[in-house]
Amino acid sequence: MIVRPDYLEIRGLTVTFDGFVAVDHVDLTVFQQDLRFLIGPNGAGKTTIIDALTGLVPATGYARYGATDLLGRKPHQIARLGIGRTFQTASVFTELTVLQNLDIAAGAGRSPLSLLRARRGVPPQVAEALETIGLSRASGQLAGSLSHGQKQWLEIGMLLVQNAKVMLLDEPVAGMSADEREQTGALLKSIATDRTVIIVEHDMDFLRAWADSVTVLHGGKVLSEGSVADVQADPKVQEVYLGS
Ligand code: ADP
Repeated sequence: MIVRPDYLEIRGLTVTFDGFVAVDHVDLTVFQQDLRFLIGPNGAGKTTIIDALTGLVPATGYARYGATDLLGRKPHQIARLGIGRTFQTASVFTELTVLQNLDIAAGAGRSPLSLLRARRGVPPQVAEALETIGLSRASGQLAGSLSHGQKQWLEIGMLLVQNAKVMLLDEPVAGMSADEREQTGALLKSIATDRTVIIVEHDMDFLRAWADSVTVLHGGKVLSEGSVADVQADPKVQEVYLGS
């Protein structure tokens, strides 16, 4: 058996809003190279799980990345531990260029002096991220002028230069063209080779094309888990989610 120490392990994760249990004792283990999709009807608790893992809402249970406990920390602490997330609407600096966005992300937490030094050239990790996200030729373009898909890639690039080891992506391909979806699938697949990636997604074609494994949530609980074929064949999933 391959030893994979860097994995996300969640046990009994529970989030309650004023007595309403939005996430109910969820267990989830995600290894590197396992492109995990999190699906489920609206209100199933998908985004709340990501919010809990990134310190935006309080949760009980435990969540560990390798040896590091994630719960009970503030969002900026979680980010510094290498847990990155994207939102459905890409949060890039539209008035700055692609390169400037990546520079800022790479410099987050660094001293102004080291930032000044970094400006003399494109730091290697920024150049590498530009290549990975396919935006090398657009590096001088204003982020605001990018297509919706390119903005999502830039946001993923910003997580790469921050050295995020866990990426939690909320509906990354929503609103993308078929070509952009295809490129995003390949990008996420390559990222997942040495990172832990969880994707919340509604697009079933995208899921069938790219998911290694799927966790289906319903009413805050894990309803089913396994390969795409496993969960599609699960009568519980057909009943509550796929509908047919
Ligand atoms: P999903 O992402 O699967 O659509 P969410 O995680 O957004 O579901 O929401 C799960 C449940 O928790 C929903 O019933 C939602 O209304 C509720 N919820 C989410 N955030 C809050 C909040 N801040 N306050 C109260 N209820 C919330």
